[in-house]
Amino acid sequence: MTEKHLSNGNEPTVFAKCTDCKNIYPAQEKTNGNFRPVGTDGSCNCGNEEFERVE
Ligand SMILES: [Zn+2]
Repeated sequence: MTEKHLSNGNEPTVFAKCTDCKNIYPAQEKTNGNFRPVGTDGSCNCGNEEFERVE
């Protein structure tokens, strides 16, 4: 049993761009309309926590 179940809530569904430094992350859309970059603590490495969807 080494395979992880894919629906563990940590799969990126969108790409999101930091509104400050413009870094782009694979991210999950949150219910409040913001985005959470996957693999981080929820903020950009510049410290910003606001992201916008990348089309
Ligand atoms: Zn940033």
